[in-house]
Amino acid sequence: MDGTLTFLGTGTSTGVPTVGCDCAVCTSTDPHDRRLRPSVLLRWQDGGRERVVLIDTGPDFREQALRNGLTRVDAVFYTHSHADHIFGLDDLRPLSFTAFREGGPIPLYATPKTIAVLERIFDYTFSPQSTYPNRARVELHPLAERTTVHGVEFLRVPVRHGAMEIVGYRFGRTAYLTDVSAIPESSFPLLTGLDCLILSALRHKPHPTHATIEQAVEWAQRIGARQTWLTHISHDLGHEQTNRTLPDGIRLAYDGLSFPVDLGRANNGVVNSGTAN
Ligand SMILES: [Zn+2]
Ligand SMILES: [Zn+2]
Repeated sequence: MDGTLTFLGTGTSTGVPTVGCDCAVCTSTDPHDRRLRPSVLLRWQDGGRERVVLIDTGPDFREQALRNGLTRVDAVFYTHSHADHIFGLDDLRPLSFTAFREGGPIPLYATPKTIAVLERIFDYTFSPQSTYPNRARVELHPLAERTTVHGVEFLRVPVRHGAMEIVGYRFGRTAYLTDVSAIPESSFPLLTGLDCLILSALRHKPHPTHATIEQAVEWAQRIGARQTWLTHISHDLGHEQTNRTLPDGIRLAYDGLSFPVDLGRANNGVVNSGTAN
């Protein structure tokens, strides 16, 4: 194992508790039932210095960065342009000033469609005409099929989110697929040989743009990772009660859950497993 993955948030777009709701999960005293908006953090050591990559920066990013003691970010990968995945971009500012002094803007990787939305919403950050002096020192890069960040390869995994095609990521023997309503047949070969699969599962009741628990379990069993963690969870699912009903090797994730992952870095003596086989 050559890296660590941490769940910064495991909630659906509203977060849990949901504003104005007094249901059993929203009023639960179990800390596992409090879920910030979905995001994960990857850390690894690179020649004596820590590298940090985020997948998505949702509206809770500031709180998540404080809770997890973030002092640097080397890159951000975006899955798609919905608010619960991008609205924390501006809170990269303080970390981006440090990164900029060290060497340059923080690279943000996203599809051209996501880039177009980021440029519109964060016009004061990205517009060449912007005169706002304290804008985030970040730079948008169109996402390639494979992107290497300080020795770790991120493979793009296309998935469906209702009518949208969005992206998941595979890094080493772990994959992160959020906001999934369908996995194209052509993406399954990119998901072989996984130790860890992270997959979104909203609730039991069907939803037009999100998989149910039952659908996610079916995909998880087909993909066959050693461990599957479910995320992007709504207030319909209590942590303890739901976990009791899930098959072995499939569990609900929770905010702050952290574990070692194999990032498949070639320079770490680990066989690179970033490609389908
Ligand atoms: Zn979402
Ligand atoms: Zn509720």
